[in-house]
Amino acid sequence: MVKSTAQARWSLRAGSGQGPAGSEPAATRAAHFADFVRQMPFAAALLDTDLCLMAVSPAWTAEALAPELRAGDDAREGLVGPEDEVSLLRCVRDGEAFSRYLPVLDATGTQRIWRTEFTACRESAQPPFAVMVTARDVTGYAEATLRAERDQQRLRMALEMDKLLVRELDLTTGALTFVGSTPELEAFCRFENDPLDIVHPDDRDRIAAAVATRPLGETGVYEFRLNRPDGQETWVRSASRTVAGPNGKPERLVNLFKDITDRRRQIEAVESLAFRDALTGLPNRTLFQHRFQEAVTASERMGEMFGLIMIDVDHFKDINDTLGHDAGDALLKRLADMLQHAFRSNDTVARLGGDEFAVILRGLHGEADMLRPIQVLQTLLERPIEHAGRSFTISASIGAALHGDPDADPTHMVKNADIALYRAKDEGRNRSVLFQPSMRSELEQRIELLRDVRAGIEAKEFVLFYQPVVDVRSGGGVVGFEALMRWAHPEQGILAPFRFMAAFEDQDLSLKLGDVALETALCQMRAWLDAGVEFGRVAVNISSVQFRSGRLAEEIQERLDRWGVPCERLTIEVTENVYMGWGTDIVSNTVRKLHDAGVMIALDDFGTGYASLANLRQFPIDRLKIDKSFVQNTEDEAIVKAVITLGSSMGMKVVAEGVEDQAQLDSLMQHGCDQVQGYHFSRPMPPTDVPGFLAGFTG
Ligand code: C2E
Ligand code: CA
Ligand code: CA
Repeated sequence: MVKSTAQARWSLRAGSGQGPAGSEPAATRAAHFADFVRQMPFAAALLDTDLCLMAVSPAWTAEALAPELRAGDDAREGLVGPEDEVSLLRCVRDGEAFSRYLPVLDATGTQRIWRTEFTACRESAQPPFAVMVTARDVTGYAEATLRAERDQQRLRMALEMDKLLVRELDLTTGALTFVGSTPELEAFCRFENDPLDIVHPDDRDRIAAAVATRPLGETGVYEFRLNRPDGQETWVRSASRTVAGPNGKPERLVNLFKDITDRRRQIEAVESLAFRDALTGLPNRTLFQHRFQEAVTASERMGEMFGLIMIDVDHFKDINDTLGHDAGDALLKRLADMLQHAFRSNDTVARLGGDEFAVILRGLHGEADMLRPIQVLQTLLERPIEHAGRSFTISASIGAALHGDPDADPTHMVKNADIALYRAKDEGRNRSVLFQPSMRSELEQRIELLRDVRAGIEAKEFVLFYQPVVDVRSGGGVVGFEALMRWAHPEQGILAPFRFMAAFEDQDLSLKLGDVALETALCQMRAWLDAGVEFGRVAVNISSVQFRSGRLAEEIQERLDRWGVPCERLTIEVTENVYMGWGTDIVSNTVRKLHDAGVMIALDDFGTGYASLANLRQFPIDRLKIDKSFVQNTEDEAIVKAVITLGSSMGMKVVAEGVEDQAQLDSLMQHGCDQVQGYHFSRPMPPTDVPGFLAGFTG
């Protein structure tokens, strides 16, 4: 063995040193080579031209590579698989090298991967005389490669099983590649110009806004409907990422699409049970809160701008009370329809309860995106609603808030929209108001005021002052007093109504103040009657809220009876706005009952509202009070004159308010005004001053 080894080494050296070979017969050369292989310090083997194993190196044996192969065995059994036979034949015939992976169990029984390389042994242009096989343990490397291949396969399987589609857009060439076999999805994920073209128009703004803020290399996940020409709804979830090239510039856009239509449907089905309002089918408060949270998250993560709108039906309770719950339900359903018409289908229109609705608008660009649908809604609201053969119209107060400021807390949105809604109601309802930060402090002041007024009512700090009404036609005597409310504030002294006007506009407080005014005035009249003070009539101001109950006439009657004050001693002053709008039946019935009982009805602040005198003819009105703004403005003399003429022609006496000087008085008298009231005669005074004033009054 030792000898033959030395011989082989020598032969090889001799062979390579002797220049062009060919002299030696192939078999001899192969035999020499076999000797050489037997000495190799790494795993190697030699095959003859019949592909039989000639020799192996000690390492080959030690590593147990193809252990069942003995010398003279056909190497095709064990060393190569059937798929490599062709390669092996080519190698031995044409000298083409090739390689394959050979799985081998090592001494511990673990499988290792060897890379075997088949190289032909030949003399330059001669046909090969043998095939040399060298082997290298590539277990670590091969495993990684195989794993990658398996991952690829798994990916493909996953793509197919989950109906996933991968789309890759080469941004430099515009080439589009799809992976995954979801032809129906693929058909709608192709585009001509803009990758966003595949998004349904209703979702496009929202997605575009989200995509625009996605940093290069980060994955964004979006859910949207595909823009299908057949109009069918397919929802997809898309994970998208723009990949940078070596120069750092965007090179590829990779999208993964998953069809989530079924899941969407399931969610919708579940939602409809737990998250829908049974009457209107709209999302309920729970779902609203969920969607709101989503909007907040999107705005925090991606700076998405969103809007929140609160809608409240004006005087809904009255409609329910007087027209019945059926009519109320019909109204709410109609309003739900209108809302769905006015807003985009992916805006969340929710019914929060009762007559309260809310809308969440996502992916906005600015104020206009929110104001536009509000305007549409207001136009829709003008259309009459038919129910059970009756037709009625409704109005709504709308508060809106917009979140676009990344520093502001989006969770304040609900409160902000509520504040705006409050403001809309406060400004007379039937309008929309967009939240401004200044409103918050104003509202806080207002809430504080209302709280103080409430406490003031409890503490009986509200009193009446009395201002005389003078009849200038029949001798200039005092014919009565107007009762005007004052707040005897413990710290600020006597406060006039402009300091607490908000209380008159608050539903609850204006009722309470109305109570105080009537009770105090009647109590005072009783006292004057008992004391023999000839005060004429006392006029009490009634706000429109007091008419709401429909029982105002009875209530006043009861009070008059209780205090034993005759109806002829009382005047009620109402402004023309109580005659307008909804609830006309109630107002006219109430007013008529009181009028018929002998209570005088005065129309206050005449000329400042929008009621036409012709309209007002159907109501029993005894007095027209010309607003002081006309009396005090000499340019309005013509109006004053016209009102006096008109009033007297309709059988009403005309009272002018706010007469401050002799000139105003002269002018009014000249035009035939019946009665006047103003600082010229007296400011409103506390009741204790009234007897003295009457005694000293000379006209
Ligand atoms: P109003 O019913 O138009 O009352 C007339 C207002 O004009 C009173 O203001 C009175 O003080 C003021 N006035 C009378 N003469 C003159 C004058 O010569 N010059 C000027 N510049 N003003 C004059 P006041 O008392 O501040 O009341 C303001 C408003 O508050 C009233 O307007 C009425 O709308 C409301 N108000 C007052 N008391 C009550 C009440 O008990 N119930 C209701 N609902 N509203 C009330
Ligand atoms: Ca008045
Ligand atoms: Ca007035």
